[in-house]
Amino acid sequence: AIPFGRIDRMAPNVPPAPCRAEINLDAVEHNARVLVDAAQGARVMAVVKADAYGHGAVAVSLAALRGGADALGVTTIAEALQLREAGITAEILAWIYLPSDDVRAALEGNVDLAVPSPAHLDTVIQAARRTGLRARVTPKLDTGLARSGITTEDWPQVLERLVAAQAGGLIEVTGLMAHFAHADDPGNPVIDQQVARLHEAVAQARAAGLACPVNHHANSAATLTRPDDGFEMVRPGIALYGLDPVGNLDVDLRPVMSFTADILMVKRLSAGQGVSYGHTWHAPHDTTVA
Ligand SMILES: *Cc1c(COP(=O)(O)O)cnc(C)c1O
Repeated sequence: AIPFGRIDRMAPNVPPAPCRAEINLDAVEHNARVLVDAAQGARVMAVVKADAYGHGAVAVSLAALRGGADALGVTTIAEALQLREAGITAEILAWIYLPSDDVRAALEGNVDLAVPSPAHLDTVIQAARRTGLRARVTPKLDTGLARSGITTEDWPQVLERLVAAQAGGLIEVTGLMAHFAHADDPGNPVIDQQVARLHEAVAQARAAGLACPVNHHANSAATLTRPDDGFEMVRPGIALYGLDPVGNLDVDLRPVMSFTADILMVKRLSAGQGVSYGHTWHAPHDTTVA
């Protein structure tokens, strides 16, 4: 376990805060192993976006890789480069940037980029031209979540452009990705529809000449409940931190973050005394509170 709040280490003579959030990196490693097992041969991309869900991106990434994760998933390019600067050489995919962003730093840092719209493809191709580097891209399809992702309407035209850009040496398509709307509700019919749409798009891409070796749709919930979806990678996030994404799964996940505090003082209260803002709690009998 490592202490959270860096402010505690300000100076030796400054008292630390009496409350702590502790991050158990052994639990991250353990949970990664559980997810690798659940993936049944598919690769595991540990999702460490948003500073690893607030747990510390670099330390969590290293622990997840120790536990057998194959790749790391983040939102922003800055998050990906933070991991590169820490010396992490594993495959990293970033999926949040604007079409107006300059993404050359991602290519220079060997960071894979999702392509969620035709405009994002323009941006990546331009960066490949300007750097002379081949961009590794993962087209992100909207299979039913209706957030970011290439629409069914745009897909045929985007596919044509992907084929041309790969033939021109500007990009390498690592595979296709999509994101679920209802994975935490096993049995919801939308899940099957989304899986079928991504399989259809992979088949179309392969027929057009893109190998698409590593395709992925599953978040934590789908990783743990749908091992037979037939894609080559999964992208669990919340389960890595020890939370059951469905709520009733029989799975050995260990909580990664725990909160502890030292007691400032104790006092005796008489029955009926209201406590704190709005007195929303009243002592049911004479008691001691901390
Ligand atoms: C956050 C995220 C994940 C991980 O989702 P969990 O529900 O936390 O497992 C996977 N893929 C994408 C695109 C995400 O944004």
